[in-house]
Amino acid sequence: MTVPCVRVPREDGEATRQALAESELIDQRREIVHEDGQLYIPVSDPDAVPEEYAIVDYDAPQRETQTTPDELVEFTASYERLGEVVIIDEDDPDRARALADAIVESDLPVKTVLNRASKIQGEQRIRDWDVLFGEETEAVHREYGCEFALDLAAVYFSPRLATERHRVTEQVETGEQVIDMFAGVGPFAIPMAKRGADVVGVDINETAIEYLRENAQRNNVDERVTAIHGDVRELTAEYEGWADRLVMNLPHSANEFVETAVALAGEHCVVHYYDIQHEDDLFGPGERAIREAAGPEYDVTVQNRHTVRSYAPHEYNIVLDVELTRA
Ligand code: SAM
Repeated sequence: MTVPCVRVPREDGEATRQALAESELIDQRREIVHEDGQLYIPVSDPDAVPEEYAIVDYDAPQRETQTTPDELVEFTASYERLGEVVIIDEDDPDRARALADAIVESDLPVKTVLNRASKIQGEQRIRDWDVLFGEETEAVHREYGCEFALDLAAVYFSPRLATERHRVTEQVETGEQVIDMFAGVGPFAIPMAKRGADVVGVDINETAIEYLRENAQRNNVDERVTAIHGDVRELTAEYEGWADRLVMNLPHSANEFVETAVALAGEHCVVHYYDIQHEDDLFGPGERAIREAAGPEYDVTVQNRHTVRSYAPHEYNIVLDVELTRA
């Protein structure tokens, strides 16, 4: 059976393998194959592979040594990995126990298994967890060549947004001034700083800001990241008119912060505005909120309307990329 593989000349093989492994994009269930001077590296999510790599369909054989959780339960095992912390989402306690045991018995590297015990909630957007194996809720997650330490019990983090973060980060140019208004542990701020931007990351969660500082150091961008603990609405005096780019990843309530965004925006500023809306009008509420706050001081152009992922029945997580140009 053919599967998507990155094809590279053998001499580039190890560097490519490492880059893909850091982003957790290698399909561990398949063998890496060398043939005629080319290496074929199976990938789990071809859409997330950076464009510089060629993707081909290739018959990479199944690895026989790895036991996966799927082989140890009688239902389809669904889980996410953040480093050695494995997250599951099972309402039935018996199923949760069986899956956690299977994960531990499998060949996955695992120190903790966590089951979602609540929705994401509160101002700091944190959820409760049932710890089914291990103790530590701190993980070290790798994404597109960056490394993020984070404590899932104390901060917001979702690995599901990796592709979207990468899409936005790729737009950033050296020397840009970026404010990540709801920065968390830095999954937008750190890769943007790596591309040469000067980034101010703000969060009301003090633990998230401590991790943002740590992560800036881990990724050698601490000189380009300013981490500020507090309510972003209090930032306008210091950073009024400063930003070339704003990231607003606080779906559900970003509309309450559009005036702050306009105050922080420079002469020309791109705003990445995340929202969760009903399918009947996915982009209208955000667009209207931004136009109302920005006009007539700014010309407002929506560059992109994009659905990031499904959120709930008939509801979607969306993003608007909006250009503000002072009129
Ligand atoms: N951008 C990060 C990410 O993608 O992982 C975090 C996004 S999370 C959905 C939203 C973050 O906004 C949380 O970490 C929360 O603590 C923070 N937050 C909520 N209200 C805030 C406010 N008024 N000022 C600054 N940060 C705030």
